[in-house]
Amino acid sequence: MKLIVLGKYGTFPAAGGACSGYLIENNGRYLLIDCGNGVLSRLQHICRIEDLEAIVLSHLHDDHAGDLRILKYAVETKLAFGTMRHRVKVYMPSSPERAARDLDYPQAFDISYVNEKTELELAGLHLRFCPMRHSIETYAISLEAGAKKLVYSADTTFHEGLIRFAAGADVLLCEATLAEAGDVPIPHMTALEAGETARLAGVERLLLTHLWCDEDAERCLLTARTVFEQSEEVMELQEYVI
Ligand SMILES: [Zn+2]
Repeated sequence: MKLIVLGKYGTFPAAGGACSGYLIENNGRYLLIDCGNGVLSRLQHICRIEDLEAIVLSHLHDDHAGDLRILKYAVETKLAFGTMRHRVKVYMPSSPERAARDLDYPQAFDISYVNEKTELELAGLHLRFCPMRHSIETYAISLEAGAKKLVYSADTTFHEGLIRFAAGADVLLCEATLAEAGDVPIPHMTALEAGETARLAGVERLLLTHLWCDEDAERCLLTARTVFEQSEEVMELQEYVI
């Protein structure tokens, strides 16, 4: 499978950047994980909206789901023009209720709700979900194809559950909002904690993402490498083969 990073920023994007969005390509089939602001534009560099088999959201914060509010117009219009035949399948948490209700747009989306027991077969991949510790209902997502395994942390604080869920992954795509903890408590991980998670989980490779745009990315990377050498920082529109 291939991971194409469409947006790497958390909270809001840097100039010219985009928030969380990860396109997975597996044997010519496409699956989008998270759809933050700026992702819809980036997606169309790689594939058509019509080509998406489904969208899976880790949680309903707008830096992970905001572009669905624009995508609904695209899908609704394409269906009306006959250039698209099916609504887009969307898998997402059912809370917060108000955010879920706002995204429930049956003219464009065929929505199913996920929880920690959900297992899905999409784009030739097996998906599982693990609850994370964030300010709202949030799931890390495991994607497996044959012997290959990619785990995406979504947004979370450092905890044992993610280490267990990521155990033995080929790639851990992990949030690292700041290099190190500051004075302001935030429901996110530092680059040091991401590195520690990768080390304890015994993964092959750590990809740091969900960066705070004012943070020094180089400092994040060097901090993660102090505990896990195989750390890299993701680049937008770059492809990673897993
Ligand atoms: Zn976020």
